Amino acid sequence: MIVEKKTIRRYEVLNAVEKPFLKFGQFRKSRESIGLSVQRCCFNCNHKFKDDDDVYLVMLKGTLNKLFCKECNDKALNDFNKEYMNNIFTIAYSREEANEIGHFIMSKGYEGVQNDSYRYCDEEILFALSANSKHNIDHIYVGVCGCQMIVAKTKRLLRRKGLKYIEKKRVFYNLLKQY
Ligand SMILES: [Zn+2]
Repeated sequence: MIVEKKTIRRYEVLNAVEKPFLKFGQFRKSRESIGLSVQRCCFNCNHKFKDDDDVYLVMLKGTLNKLFCKECNDKALNDFNKEYMNNIFTIAYSREEANEIGHFIMSKGYEGVQNDSYRYCDEEILFALSANSKHNIDHIYVGVCGCQMIVAKTKRLLRRKGLKYIEKKRVFYNLLKQY
Protein backbone atom coordinates (compact mmCIF):
# COMPACT_ATOMS: atom_id res chain seq x y z
CA MET A 1 0.00 0.00 0.00
CA ILE A 2 1.16 3.51 -0.78
CA VAL A 3 -0.04 6.45 1.23
CA GLU A 4 0.20 9.74 -0.58
CA LYS A 5 -0.06 13.05 1.21
CA LYS A 6 0.26 16.49 -0.22
CA THR A 7 1.33 19.52 1.73
CA ILE A 8 -0.09 22.90 0.88
CA ARG A 9 2.19 25.85 1.33
CA ARG A 10 0.97 29.43 1.21
CA TYR A 11 3.15 32.36 0.32
CA GLU A 12 2.13 35.96 0.68
CA VAL A 13 3.09 38.27 -2.19
CA LEU A 14 5.21 41.06 -0.76
CA ASN A 15 5.82 42.94 -3.97
CA ALA A 16 4.85 42.77 -7.61
CA VAL A 17 5.77 45.15 -10.43
CA GLU A 18 4.20 46.08 -13.75
CA LYS A 19 7.33 45.64 -15.81
CA PRO A 20 8.32 42.18 -17.01
CA PHE A 21 11.62 40.91 -15.67
CA LEU A 22 12.87 39.32 -18.91
CA LYS A 23 11.80 37.08 -21.76
CA PHE A 24 11.88 33.53 -20.48
CA GLY A 25 14.45 32.57 -23.14
CA GLN A 26 16.87 35.29 -21.97
CA PHE A 27 16.42 34.23 -18.37
CA ARG A 28 16.92 30.54 -19.20
CA LYS A 29 20.05 31.11 -21.29
CA SER A 30 21.72 33.37 -18.75
CA ARG A 31 21.07 30.90 -15.92
CA GLU A 32 22.16 27.88 -18.00
CA SER A 33 25.33 29.62 -19.15
CA ILE A 34 26.53 29.77 -15.56
CA GLY A 35 25.21 26.34 -14.62
CA LEU A 36 22.29 27.47 -12.46
CA SER A 37 18.91 25.77 -12.20
CA VAL A 38 16.01 27.29 -14.12
CA GLN A 39 12.43 27.78 -12.91
CA ARG A 40 10.52 26.61 -15.99
CA CYS A 41 6.90 27.09 -14.90
CA CYS A 42 4.88 29.90 -13.37
CA PHE A 43 5.20 29.55 -9.58
CA ASN A 44 1.48 30.16 -9.15
CA CYS A 45 -0.35 28.37 -11.98
CA ASN A 46 2.40 26.05 -13.28
CA HIS A 47 2.04 27.34 -16.84
CA LYS A 48 5.11 26.12 -18.70
CA PHE A 49 7.08 29.10 -20.01
CA LYS A 50 8.00 29.38 -23.68
CA ASP A 51 11.15 31.23 -24.71
CA ASP A 52 9.34 34.36 -25.87
CA ASP A 53 7.00 34.58 -22.86
CA ASP A 54 7.46 37.61 -20.61
CA VAL A 55 8.23 36.48 -17.09
CA TYR A 56 7.66 38.57 -13.97
CA LEU A 57 9.68 38.54 -10.79
CA VAL A 58 7.53 38.42 -7.65
CA MET A 59 8.75 38.78 -4.09
CA LEU A 60 7.17 36.28 -1.71
CA LYS A 61 7.25 35.84 2.04
CA GLY A 62 8.92 32.62 3.12
CA THR A 63 10.71 31.74 -0.11
CA LEU A 64 13.01 33.22 -2.71
CA ASN A 65 11.79 35.54 -5.46
CA LYS A 66 9.86 33.55 -8.06
CA LEU A 67 8.75 33.94 -11.66
CA PHE A 68 5.10 34.47 -12.52
CA CYS A 69 3.36 34.47 -15.90
CA LYS A 70 1.65 37.68 -17.03
CA GLU A 71 -1.80 36.56 -15.94
CA CYS A 72 -0.73 35.64 -12.42
CA ASN A 73 1.40 38.76 -12.13
CA ASP A 74 -1.64 40.88 -13.06
CA LYS A 75 -3.64 39.21 -10.28
CA ALA A 76 -0.84 39.68 -7.77
CA LEU A 77 -0.42 43.31 -8.80
CA ASN A 78 -4.13 43.98 -8.54
CA ASP A 79 -4.38 42.50 -5.03
CA PHE A 80 -1.24 44.24 -3.97
CA ASN A 81 -2.51 47.58 -5.24
CA LYS A 82 -5.91 47.13 -3.60
CA GLU A 83 -4.27 46.66 -0.27
CA TYR A 84 -2.28 49.84 -0.59
CA MET A 85 -4.50 52.16 -2.58
CA ASN A 86 -5.90 53.92 0.49
CA ASN A 87 -2.48 54.50 1.97
CA ILE A 88 -0.25 56.01 -0.65
CA PHE A 89 1.51 59.28 -1.33
CA THR A 90 3.46 60.96 -4.08
CA ILE A 91 5.76 63.93 -4.57
CA ALA A 92 4.93 67.50 -5.66
CA TYR A 93 7.36 70.26 -6.58
CA SER A 94 5.05 73.28 -6.60
CA ARG A 95 1.81 74.64 -5.21
CA GLU A 96 0.14 74.09 -8.60
CA GLU A 97 1.29 70.51 -8.82
CA ALA A 98 0.30 69.75 -5.22
CA ASN A 99 -3.12 71.31 -5.77
CA GLU A 100 -3.65 69.37 -8.96
CA ILE A 101 -3.00 66.17 -7.01
CA GLY A 102 -5.18 67.42 -4.15
CA HIS A 103 -8.12 68.22 -6.40
CA PHE A 104 -7.79 64.84 -8.06
CA ILE A 105 -7.82 63.12 -4.66
CA MET A 106 -10.95 64.98 -3.56
CA SER A 107 -12.67 64.38 -6.90
CA LYS A 108 -12.30 60.66 -6.12
CA GLY A 109 -14.38 61.03 -2.97
CA TYR A 110 -11.69 61.38 -0.33
CA GLU A 111 -12.05 63.98 2.41
CA GLY A 112 -9.82 67.00 2.64
CA VAL A 113 -7.13 67.39 5.29
CA GLN A 114 -9.63 68.81 7.80
CA ASN A 115 -13.07 68.52 6.29
CA ASP A 116 -14.70 68.70 2.91
CA SER A 117 -13.45 72.19 2.15
CA TYR A 118 -10.47 72.37 -0.17
CA ARG A 119 -9.31 75.64 1.39
CA TYR A 120 -7.48 73.83 4.22
CA CYS A 121 -5.70 71.57 1.76
CA ASP A 122 -4.33 74.56 -0.10
CA GLU A 123 -3.25 76.14 3.21
CA GLU A 124 -1.46 72.97 4.29
CA ILE A 125 0.27 72.76 0.92
CA LEU A 126 1.46 76.36 1.15
CA PHE A 127 2.60 75.87 4.73
CA ALA A 128 4.56 72.71 3.93
CA LEU A 129 6.16 74.23 0.82
CA SER A 130 7.27 77.39 2.59
CA ALA A 131 8.56 75.46 5.64
CA ASN A 132 10.59 73.21 3.32
CA SER A 133 11.90 76.08 1.18
CA LYS A 134 13.56 77.48 4.32
CA HIS A 135 15.62 74.29 4.34
CA ASN A 136 16.21 74.43 0.58
CA ILE A 137 13.87 71.53 -0.03
CA ASP A 138 11.93 72.03 -3.23
CA HIS A 139 9.18 69.46 -2.77
CA ILE A 140 6.47 68.16 -0.45
CA TYR A 141 4.38 64.99 -0.31
CA VAL A 142 0.66 64.64 -0.96
CA GLY A 143 -1.36 61.48 -0.53
CA VAL A 144 -4.23 59.67 1.12
CA CYS A 145 -4.39 58.02 4.52
CA GLY A 146 -7.57 55.96 4.80
CA CYS A 147 -10.37 58.15 3.48
CA GLN A 148 -8.53 61.44 3.97
CA MET A 149 -6.06 63.54 2.02
CA ILE A 150 -2.72 64.13 3.71
CA VAL A 151 0.05 66.69 3.13
CA ALA A 152 3.55 66.27 4.57
CA LYS A 153 6.95 67.95 4.50
CA THR A 154 8.91 64.72 4.71
CA LYS A 155 8.47 61.05 3.89
CA ARG A 156 9.33 60.00 7.42
CA LEU A 157 5.97 60.67 9.05
CA LEU A 158 4.06 59.11 6.17
CA ARG A 159 6.21 55.99 6.23
CA ARG A 160 5.66 55.71 9.97
CA LYS A 161 1.91 55.70 9.33
CA GLY A 162 2.44 52.78 6.95
CA LEU A 163 1.87 54.73 3.74
CA LYS A 164 3.55 53.60 0.56
CA TYR A 165 5.47 56.04 -1.62
CA ILE A 166 4.46 56.01 -5.30
CA GLU A 167 6.94 58.04 -7.27
CA LYS A 168 5.15 58.08 -10.62
CA LYS A 169 2.08 60.29 -10.67
CA ARG A 170 0.38 58.19 -13.35
CA VAL A 171 0.63 55.10 -11.14
CA PHE A 172 -0.56 57.10 -8.13
CA TYR A 173 -3.61 58.33 -10.06
CA ASN A 174 -4.38 54.84 -11.32
CA LEU A 175 -4.33 53.42 -7.81
CA LEU A 176 -6.71 56.12 -6.60
CA LYS A 177 -9.08 55.43 -9.46
CA GLN A 178 -9.85 52.01 -8.01
CA TYR A 179 -11.32 53.50 -4.82
ZN1 LIG B 1 0.74 31.81 -13.84
